[in-house]
This record gives sequence, C-alpha cells and structure tokens, in this order.
Amino acid sequence: MTCGWVTGAAAGFLAGATGRLRVPVPSFLIDHPRGKVLFDSGLHPDAGRDPEGRLGKVTRYFTVELAPGEDVAGRLAALQIDAAEVSHLVTSHLHFDHTGGNGALPNATVIVQRAEWEAGHDADGVRANFYDPRNYDTGQDVLLVRGEHDVFGDGRVVCIPTHGHTPGHQSLRVRLDRGDVVLTADACYFRRTLEELRLPAVMHDCDAMLASLHRLRALRDAGARLVYGHDPEFWATLPQAPAAFT
Ligand SMILES: [Zn+2]
Repeated sequence: MTCGWVTGAAAGFLAGATGRLRVPVPSFLIDHPRGKVLFDSGLHPDAGRDPEGRLGKVTRYFTVELAPGEDVAGRLAALQIDAAEVSHLVTSHLHFDHTGGNGALPNATVIVQRAEWEAGHDADGVRANFYDPRNYDTGQDVLLVRGEHDVFGDGRVVCIPTHGHTPGHQSLRVRLDRGDVVLTADACYFRRTLEELRLPAVMHDCDAMLASLHRLRALRDAGARLVYGHDPEFWATLPQAPAAFT
C-alpha cells in the first residue's frame, strides 16, 4: 500500500546524488492465518493537511503528500479491513514515515527492536534521530525484541535486525509459498543502494548499515526477493493492494 509520498534532497537517500527526489511511503499487510500483520504504518493522517503542525522541523527537509484516504487506516478500509483487526504491527524503525499511522491500530501488538525503542525514549536519541514520540507512544502493547524474532513461530514472518539507518532498525522476512520476500525498509532505500553499496548522506551508524546491506545481499543471493524501502522505480513494478504480492 502506498501511504503518501515524501520529497527530499536526493543525497539524503543516496550520497552524491543531486537535486530532489520524490519517493513512495510504503506499508505492507501480511495476512497470516493467525493474525493480520502490518509492516510500518506510513504517515500520520494529518501530515498531508497540516504538515508543519504534525511534522514540525522535518518539513525543513521534506515535502509530504498525503491525500485523504491514503493514510494506512484509509488504505485498509478500502480493502474492507477495519484497522482494529490488525493484530501485529512490526515497526522497522521510529521515523515519521514509518510510524505515523501507529495510533490508528488500537489492537496491534507493536513489535520493535529494543535498541530502537530505547533510542525513541531517550532525549538525545530522539533529537539525534528526529523522532517524534507522538507517533509511537500510542498506548498499545509493545513487544521489545533483540535480533531475529519469529512472529508466529512458523518461520513465515520473521523480523531481521538491520541496524545502522537507526540504532535498532529491522527488516521483515516473509516466507510466501513461492519463496522468501524481504521487506528491507530503510536498511536499503533503493535497488542501487544494494547494488552499489551506496549509503545515504545521513544515517546513525555507517559501519552497521554496511553490514546490514551485506546481510541483505546474502539473503538476495540465497534467492529472496527484496522489496526496497523507498525506491520509486522499483515500487512502480510492484502490485498495489488489493492486488497481492504472492
Ligand atoms: Zn523512511
């Protein structure tokens, strides 16, 4: 599901690039027999109509587009799914374009890496990473994990630590009948990030991010299909809900 668009300096996504770049804000629904899992929740519903009020200083760097109905609850409603039905919300990391819809998912257990959550509840961590606790301090149960975490214990939906972009970033491996899909989120913005090992200009930990990219490469080389975090060209090749990635 595309939950809005963000435009920012291209170098912010890919060091050395020039100009500005408009990228999609993805959210993914995984329908498992034991629950509906959402991977990231996109932008806050107010981000489109009141960007400064909702996003604050982030608007110095990014322009945000979010039309009515494009927020995650709207996207789910278009699929005849009540946001209250989502049982698990796997959060890649706490940035505004990945947690803005958290508050719309009242019954979801939020699954996040402990290092990420701790950075999001530490004044220096919040400042350094441009976090906004209004996005993620939304009252649900939170399951703090460290490293790999198998959500249902059957290998179908597994959190994979890919730290570096932020202190506790994680990606999600989904085992479909046709094979593994890895939703990289911001551990790998674009296909080019992986192919050229080209980092963005800004990140939490360069060495950790490179190590995560090598891990993602190894998964790809083992046959997994990777879905990159904000790649507009790649995104255009993927099916959009209600069509499913199978
Ligand atoms: Zn992002």
